[in-house]
Amino acid sequence: MSKSKLPVGGGAKKILYTLQTVKRIGLADSAKALRAKNTCKACGLGMGGQLGGMTNEQGDFPSVCNKSVQAQSTDIQPPIPEAIFTHDLDDFKKLSAHELEHLGRLGQPLYKSKDQSNFTVVDWDWALTHAAKKFAQTAPERSFFYTSGRSSNEAGFVLQLLARVYGTNNVNNCSFYCHQATGVGLANTIGTGTSTVELADLDGCDLIFVIGANPASNHPRFIHKLKACRDRGGHVVVINPAREPGLVKFALPKSARSLIAGGSDIASHYLQPRIGSDIAVLKGLAKWILEHGAEDRDFIDHYCADFDAFEQDINATSWLDIESSSGLSQHQLAEVAAVYAKSTQAVFAWGMGITHHANGVGNVEYISNLALLRGMIGRPCSGLLPLRGHSNVQGIGTIGVKPVLSDEVFQRIETELGVSMPAGNAGGMDTLACLEASSRGEIDVAMMMGGNLYEATPESAWAERSLDAIDCKVYLTTTLNKGHVHGLTNSEALILPVAARDEEPQPTTQESMFNFVRFSDGGIKRIAEARSEVDVLVDLAKRIFATRSEHGDSKQTEINTVDFSAFSSRRSIRQSIAAIIPGMQDLADIDVAKKEFHIRNRIKHSPEFSNADGRARFVVQPLFKAVVDAVYPMRLMTVRSEGQFNSIIYEQNDSYRGVPERWAVMLNRDDMGRLGLVKGSVVDVSSRHGCMRSVTVYPFDLPSGDMMAYYPEANVLVGREHDPRSKTPAFKSVQVNILASTGGQQEGLAGQ
Ligand code: SF4
Repeated sequence: MSKSKLPVGGGAKKILYTLQTVKRIGLADSAKALRAKNTCKACGLGMGGQLGGMTNEQGDFPSVCNKSVQAQSTDIQPPIPEAIFTHDLDDFKKLSAHELEHLGRLGQPLYKSKDQSNFTVVDWDWALTHAAKKFAQTAPERSFFYTSGRSSNEAGFVLQLLARVYGTNNVNNCSFYCHQATGVGLANTIGTGTSTVELADLDGCDLIFVIGANPASNHPRFIHKLKACRDRGGHVVVINPAREPGLVKFALPKSARSLIAGGSDIASHYLQPRIGSDIAVLKGLAKWILEHGAEDRDFIDHYCADFDAFEQDINATSWLDIESSSGLSQHQLAEVAAVYAKSTQAVFAWGMGITHHANGVGNVEYISNLALLRGMIGRPCSGLLPLRGHSNVQGIGTIGVKPVLSDEVFQRIETELGVSMPAGNAGGMDTLACLEASSRGEIDVAMMMGGNLYEATPESAWAERSLDAIDCKVYLTTTLNKGHVHGLTNSEALILPVAARDEEPQPTTQESMFNFVRFSDGGIKRIAEARSEVDVLVDLAKRIFATRSEHGDSKQTEINTVDFSAFSSRRSIRQSIAAIIPGMQDLADIDVAKKEFHIRNRIKHSPEFSNADGRARFVVQPLFKAVVDAVYPMRLMTVRSEGQFNSIIYEQNDSYRGVPERWAVMLNRDDMGRLGLVKGSVVDVSSRHGCMRSVTVYPFDLPSGDMMAYYPEANVLVGREHDPRSKTPAFKSVQVNILASTGGQQEGLAGQ
């Protein structure tokens, strides 16, 4: 591909797309939504809140991107007409994710019984009474509670409390499918599981690593920080098997110069290792640093533990092994390592290219190793930055939507709220374990607040069967997605319409990936029947416990049940969170002070680590060995497109990669030639778990032997292999083969 033809991220087409979206939803409505003092509904970078919509915590305005506008676009829709629900469930199943999302807002509660094949519109009282009866009749250990990162801290806190008082620790969230490996890895190395830098730190660093992430599509405003780093003479090192156009050049809509020049250079160095070989790359960089005496011995001696074992392992690892594992030459690695050796302030950012592997925790630990090697954690403008997905996914974990609480938090809940939680603090099931229990017929009722658990789960055919094995599911949602129409053929479901963030009747809070807690005013009224998630949970809790008491449930009468009515006041919820969750003290009066804040003890501008001995820890990891065989000789990673956010599909076209459809597979031109394929060829892609039939081939700049396909469509190929420590599935290391097309669209081989 000649240089002049290289696609560029951002630019005029993004401006025009945003303009079209704004026009479609109406200028007045979109301006109101974007300027209101609410946290951006899309990515975890964080914009909005009390400094005003489209403003970041540094006061920069306008800080907005097309992802933010897209997220508003489906909330500002009229309700789905009731007549639509006369259609059969099978008709809904034929709709694409994009079509379902754009049917409109869910305007009324829906019910589907076990033996019906269509939805019935029901009223709220019936829906909540029915749901409460189902939960009250179920043994708590046969239930689970799940939430996405869309919900507020307040709703998340009430959800996990409801589950625990009800009697189960089967409480989890979507991060088990994305960044859980980050939390586990960082907790082990530095004692805290989130970013060590704040947004302002990105303005002072001279080097930013972007590893296994594509922020041009997924965290668009981060690109501005990368470009600014380049503009002040710094470097941006991208490590990604795929050469993503938006990370090579990006035309920043805010910069006339960038637009006129056809885009600004983003990456100063771009390494394309084989899929899954991150530890080899990081070991190579560490080896060069040690060989050239560029490590920070003083920092290591004073603030770190277990360095000797790490050094011995690096010394025992040959360059030959590093090269053959990563597919990169010693020279390529040395060039980047030399840049790192000269850096005085480096930030390491990463995404799911790091976590979506069977050794995801090890990958995260190795990024931490590399940063510690030069003392880059615990000083201003340097540190670790996991690029979190949804706008409050980090907050949901912070406030306790997880299967295991720390003993400190568990005890504080019992003391502060005067409650005894029946299941104690024994670990509950993570997200994948809940689906596995469902597949074994061990779950009777489940609550899903937001998200799309069906499409977020690997092995789609198995996921659908597992969800259908749950007798009754209760969904809280703003719009319909595939998760609301799959996995309920033989079971019952309630789908309840809830308010979006900016429609909340009382203000709520969210936490960005920089540990910054924002306060969202809410208050916009769009959908008459939509209720706040908090109000639904409070009402449901009261009904569940009343039903249990009526039926003389001895366990229930023994429990000094929490007064859920008090949580009708969001202030009251925040006061409980402030008293229970470490570092969240400032939440108690955020509604009065209107002062947004960084959670205490997370940003590390000095080398103070939360491990028991106060030292950060080096961790030894084995070198990655590519697992391929004669039957499945290629590696595939699932990726998001420019036109989607998580599992929500806003447009079919992936404009940055030049792929106009989602039923597509991308591979190296040489591999295409070897396999006799050209752009537009139609093939079948198979794995041990399923097959994508009649999928169109597109060339892409990837290492030989590596392929990409879109998530969630390609989940049919992904198995349940996961990182044993974090339980994060290996969405980005799937063994596959390419076969001549046999027609049809898709077939899950699993279970046959
Ligand atoms: S970068 Fe993320 S937080 Fe900022 S406006 Fe875009 S979607 Fe919202």
